Amino acid sequence: MKGLSKTRSALPRSGIREIMDYSVNIPDVIHLEVGEPNVDTPLHIREAAYAAMNEGFTHYTPNAGLNTLRESIVTHLQKQYGLNSKVEEIVVTAGAVNALSASVLSLVESGEEVLIPDPGWPNYEQIILSQESIPKRYKLNPELGFIPDTTELERVVTSKTKAIIINSPGNPTGGVLSEENIKEVLAFASKHDLYVISDEVYDGIIFEGKHICPLLYDTEGRVISIFGFSKNYAMTGWRVGYAVAPQHIAMTIAKVLEPLVSCASSVSQKAAEAAISCPQDFVEEMRSIYKVRRDHVYKLFEEAGINAYKPKGAFYMMVDLSDVIPDEKNPAIILLQEAGVAVAPGATFGSTTKKMIRISFATEDSKLFEGVSRICNFVRQKRKNIVKGDSEHVS
Ligand code: PLP
Repeated sequence: MKGLSKTRSALPRSGIREIMDYSVNIPDVIHLEVGEPNVDTPLHIREAAYAAMNEGFTHYTPNAGLNTLRESIVTHLQKQYGLNSKVEEIVVTAGAVNALSASVLSLVESGEEVLIPDPGWPNYEQIILSQESIPKRYKLNPELGFIPDTTELERVVTSKTKAIIINSPGNPTGGVLSEENIKEVLAFASKHDLYVISDEVYDGIIFEGKHICPLLYDTEGRVISIFGFSKNYAMTGWRVGYAVAPQHIAMTIAKVLEPLVSCASSVSQKAAEAAISCPQDFVEEMRSIYKVRRDHVYKLFEEAGINAYKPKGAFYMMVDLSDVIPDEKNPAIILLQEAGVAVAPGATFGSTTKKMIRISFATEDSKLFEGVSRICNFVRQKRKNIVKGDSEHVS
């Protein structure tokens, strides 16, 4: 029998899913690996979906989404960021991940390169490889807040590079790009004639600074901004997101959706419309809850003398375990086996963070704090063993 597609079957798996699978047979595990809010979708959004179903929103919609939702998105972006976008520039998708892959498909030929952050969300690499394009990593320096640096971007760009993906607030880092950072990336993109795919799915979850949408400064029509409903509104299962792009790019993205999904679910689009048009109290409430958790968790790590990177946004924290985990070992597997905590392995985000782990604080308080205490106790114990081992060695 003929084989499967070599490109697609060789795609790397996300290390987060591997940890989830591995943890299934281990009792009493605390799960801090998954990146989704620990609460259900707010009632007013669910009620809007029931009403929509009863009103007959059970059919296909146009590829680019329902006009009412696209109009609500335009109003929302104007209110939030002062953006003057047009309905024709908005394409509603089946989750932000669908907007990302449709954007890469629309812009990049096979064999061309796309710059992606290291560390960065593993799906960027999967999306690019699955389209037979080439992902090229640019390093984000942990000591500089995991922000893109032009010297590093200049090091990796080549004549084959077509686009750069940026992500602010960042997963897994929580890094937030300032206005100056965004302008630097745009100047770099302009110099090398690149498209900028800006992943902004955590735009409502910022603790320090404010979200800057690069479309505001794009005078050349090279930015595609991608937003989602999953994280801000606890709507991961509804699968809605959207891209905002110059009209000719938006039209191509909408066309590309046809063979992929045709359109996003009609009921989910009506739910998304309710989410984005109603007062944004839920987003603000969750943001304050995440901030309290972030501060508490950071303090626990600090008290234990563990090097954690305080995020400015999103709901993840990177923690450095390099002093207690041997070089060749995966810290996430060791933590799972020895401390009963499932975390995301840093290596799944790139080589910069291979001795780190990522925890998600979109987890209910009791579990989160118990999980973090287990990590701290694990590190304390390891350090004691190292000291003991050293003294035994010395004697
Ligand atoms: N971008 C980043 C950085 C993410 O972390 C995620 C989900 O984890 C997505 C995009 C995809 O979000 P959606 O659920 O809207 O597809």
